[in-house]
Amino acid sequence: MQVHSMEFKARAGQKLADQRLQQNLKKLSTKFVTARADAIRDIDFDATRAALKERRNRALENLDVWLAKFEENATKRGATVLFAETTADAARLVGEIAQKHGVKKVIKSKSMVTEEMRLNQVLGEMGVQSIETDLGEYILQINDAEPPSHIIAPVIHKDKDEIADLFARVHNKPRLTDIPEMTREAREVLRPEFLSADMGVTGGNFIIAETGSVAVVTNEGNEGMCTIMPRVHVAVTGIEKVLPTLEDLATVMRLLPRSATGQAISNYFSLLTGPRAAGEQDGPEHMYFVLVDGGRSGLIGGEFQEMLRCIRCGACMNHCPVYQKIGGHAYGWVYPGPMGSVLTPSYVGLANAVDLPQAATLCGECNRVCPASIPLSDLLRKLREKQMERGLRPWQERMALQVWGYVARRPDLYAFVTRLGARLMARMGGRGKLISRLPMAGRGWTDTRDMPAPSGRTFRELYKERRAR
Ligand code: SF4
Repeated sequence: MQVHSMEFKARAGQKLADQRLQQNLKKLSTKFVTARADAIRDIDFDATRAALKERRNRALENLDVWLAKFEENATKRGATVLFAETTADAARLVGEIAQKHGVKKVIKSKSMVTEEMRLNQVLGEMGVQSIETDLGEYILQINDAEPPSHIIAPVIHKDKDEIADLFARVHNKPRLTDIPEMTREAREVLRPEFLSADMGVTGGNFIIAETGSVAVVTNEGNEGMCTIMPRVHVAVTGIEKVLPTLEDLATVMRLLPRSATGQAISNYFSLLTGPRAAGEQDGPEHMYFVLVDGGRSGLIGGEFQEMLRCIRCGACMNHCPVYQKIGGHAYGWVYPGPMGSVLTPSYVGLANAVDLPQAATLCGECNRVCPASIPLSDLLRKLREKQMERGLRPWQERMALQVWGYVARRPDLYAFVTRLGARLMARMGGRGKLISRLPMAGRGWTDTRDMPAPSGRTFRELYKERRAR
């Protein structure tokens, strides 16, 4: 997927003005947020996520060891393990596998890493047809290869009517508006593709070092069709997704579906180990793993290593007040929301995503819900510091912060300036005690709402007064 993160501000403005999108994004709070809150009541969330953090850290601290162990065990079970340094290398490797086996048609289940790799485009350029089979991804593919806007619900930005129009136009059939009927129609279109494909490509939620297996989680069962029916299966995932043991997987799986969709367990969960062995009824003749670095190893041992614990549940975006208003396309790359605002600058370069660390209110809601205990707001703040150090923010912003830093380090001057500011803002509020237009950079805050004017006295003054009483 091309990087458009430098267009964040312009895109966010367009998304805010899109009333249909605003309506569609309400599903985040009415569906996902509520479902997660209900689902985590069944478990001791804090204790389970502490266990998950410990297990993911154990894997990441010795990533090379666990990847070597995975390679050894997967190879023993007859799979071929390939490592790709860049996402372009990974796409080339998948293309070479297709060529080696004379593949003309690929069926895919949802994988965000393959979005990083632009796999569909690369395969298309090689003359290999690649068909998305996750319903959301399929809808996007037939809509001129539109990119996903959410890592779990790729088509959340669309409503039923838009999809009904799209199906009627592309499938050339009468327009249906009943969701089960629409799903059946998509299934009828996809079924012959499953039957005629030579190769299946899936993501891998996790790979397990002790068994050489890949765990694939879906709600539609399409991953089963992609891995069992074609003669070749390629599982593509990031190198950070390795877990040492099946017990680690069990811990992670207690939180992944609950955090993602509010389910205790997903509808389908496959644990696949090696190609079809002698005497087995199903499974591919050939199985490959393509394990992608794509910038991940650059985070190891650094201040952003914690980000590699991410299990791609999407909870941080579902709960983010910024994502809830603008959706995923505004972020301009594969990963949106708070996790994307950390990952995108880390993978594509801070200079190519300068507005993403700012795309957060730092309210901490993402930290609260993250099942991997990733301190997202701290990481976003660190990225902001780096932007300042490297002069990547506009000069006015840098100067304003320098002035602020100068004042904040001098208590008397600070007291004087805040006193002056509080008095001035109280006056700006007038009789209604509401400020309808803040000057300069504050203008954005009052574009869509009024700001309650402060009382005219500073916190310190009020605190002193209260202690005196
Ligand atoms: S950062 Fe946390 S909440 Fe966000 S997708 Fe990753 S694991 Fe889920």
